[in-house]
Amino acid sequence: MSLVVTIDGPAGAGKSTVAKRLARRLGYRLLDTGAIYRAVALAGLRAGTALDDEPALALIARDLDIDFAFEGDGDAAVNRVLLGGEDVSAAIRTPEASQAASKVSALPAVRAALLDLQRRLGGKGGVVVEGRDTGTVVFPEAGAKFFLTASDHERARRRMEELGARAGALEDVLGEIRERDARDAGRDVAPMKAAGDAILVDSSTMSLDEVVADLERVVREREQ
Ligand code: C5P
Repeated sequence: MSLVVTIDGPAGAGKSTVAKRLARRLGYRLLDTGAIYRAVALAGLRAGTALDDEPALALIARDLDIDFAFEGDGDAAVNRVLLGGEDVSAAIRTPEASQAASKVSALPAVRAALLDLQRRLGGKGGVVVEGRDTGTVVFPEAGAKFFLTASDHERARRRMEELGARAGALEDVLGEIRERDARDAGRDVAPMKAAGDAILVDSSTMSLDEVVADLERVVREREQ
C-alpha cells in the first residue's frame, strides 16, 4: 500500500534532497510545500503587496496558479516550479524570497487558503511531502512522518554548498537560517514542530544517503 510520507524540519536540514531521493527510490511523487509558500511570496513581491497585508496575500494564495514539472533523471533531476506557466524555480529561491516566504507563511489566512491545495496535490498517497507542518497539520494521518534536523552550522554549510557562487558569507547564511527558524518555530499558527508520532532524524553527522536509506527502511516496513 502506498503511503503519504511527510518530512518536516528547519531550513537547510537536507529535506529537499532527501525527499527527492526517497520519492525516487519508492516510486512516489514529490510535493514541496515550501515552494508553494515561496510562490505566494514572489507573487506578492511582484504585485507590490505589503508582506503583512493578510487579506491581499490570502487572495493571491487562493488563486495561485502553481504547477510542478520534473526534468531530468537521478540526482540531476530538478523539480521546476511554474507560476502562471512561468518557470520561477530560481526566482523563488533568492534570500529575499526566502524571507518573504517565511513572513507570508505566518499569516493564518494564507495558510488556510493553501491547505486544500496541498491536500489535493498530496492526493491519496504514494507521495513524499516536505515542509514545516506537513505531519502536524496538512497530513496528520500520514503513514510515515519524519522530522529532519541538523546543527545550524551544518545547515548553513549545506546551504552555502547549494547556493554555490551565489552564496554570501557563512555568517550571513547562518543569520538568515536562524532568523527564519525563529519565525517558523515561533509563529502562532502551524509552527514548525515535530508531530508526536514523527521519527526524529538528526543528519548532522550522517550522509544524506544514510538518511535516505533509514527513511526508506521505515516506509517499506509500513507499506506492508
Ligand atoms: O522549505 P522552504 O525553505 O522552501 O520553505 C520556505 C518557507 O516557507 C519556510 O521558511 C516557511 O516559512 C514556509 N513554509 C511553511 N510551511 C510549510 C513549508 C514552508 O510555513 N509546510
